[in-house]
Amino acid sequence: VPLPEKALIEQIRRLAGPSRLKQAGVGARATHTRSAQIRTGIGDDCAVLRLARGSELLITTDFSLEGIHFRRDWHPADSVGHRCLARGLSDIAAMGGDPVAAFLSLGLPRDLAQTWAKGFLRGLLKLARRYGVSLAGGDTAESRDGILADIIVAGTVPKGKAILRSGARVGDAIYVSGELGGSAAAIERFRARSKKNPNARDYFRHFYPEPRVELGRILREKGLAAAMIDLSDGLSTDLAHICEESSVGAEIQAESIPRGRVGNPARDVELELALHGGEDYELLFTVRPGKRIPAQVAGVALRCIGRITRGRKIVVRKTTGVRSELAPQGWEHFRR
Ligand SMILES: [Mg+2]
Repeated sequence: VPLPEKALIEQIRRLAGPSRLKQAGVGARATHTRSAQIRTGIGDDCAVLRLARGSELLITTDFSLEGIHFRRDWHPADSVGHRCLARGLSDIAAMGGDPVAAFLSLGLPRDLAQTWAKGFLRGLLKLARRYGVSLAGGDTAESRDGILADIIVAGTVPKGKAILRSGARVGDAIYVSGELGGSAAAIERFRARSKKNPNARDYFRHFYPEPRVELGRILREKGLAAAMIDLSDGLSTDLAHICEESSVGAEIQAESIPRGRVGNPARDVELELALHGGEDYELLFTVRPGKRIPAQVAGVALRCIGRITRGRKIVVRKTTGVRSELAPQGWEHFRR
């Protein structure tokens, strides 16, 4: 049974309710540690956010489009909701920020089953609660062509402390968190076997990626990261963004790149996917020479994969001595 717009908004409001109240400080504990509060969320014309003195507002926006970012025959509805919010949280993490509120605009086909919208919201709100983020507003409309979800995430960071892409300098070490290529490998596997409803447990990091919010915040608090970006488009593309914004080049060691494992039985993903595959939502950051980085922060492994160099080229070196230039290969999501 499709869900009329009014009923859907009511449902979002009801589902988002408890977390909104918690955020707004109605009998909540966590709020005094926050640098922003939601004074008014869903139910008024605008959300009202109160910022603490000395903090700046971060805003990011991301589309999740059916057929581009997800497929209804591969992705369970709650995974689509989770991934939708994870994209925004990951951007906040990349600045070293604290996420505060999310705003969701949904375009749903008229004949979409009610259970899909419910599942989507369940996935999104579960992740939101885990990070103390409230769904503070949004809009719904009928879509003529597939499901469209647009998420805006607001966060805060102490004034002047946001970690930018432009902070890298020659001689910095380049680090990545977690493992790379797993998400792209999952999609390759789904496609190769034209799999319907792949087992979510075998591809968990693809279906339910964990945005590195805590890691990003700790790197900022301890002054460890000079430049940072989240790996949404793939290492080759996102490292190129850092190099471009910082006017530098990079040399990375192929064997140092931590590769994901996917499937059942689990296998290491190919180097190409670790280099170019997107949607891992790990963090890539640079570190000034002489700064020590722990092997693990906030439960996430950190690996040095290379150095920032003079010039504008990105070079991949192998232990065999072979060096090749790395061209950014945009992550084309589900398109061939
Ligand atoms: Mg980003």
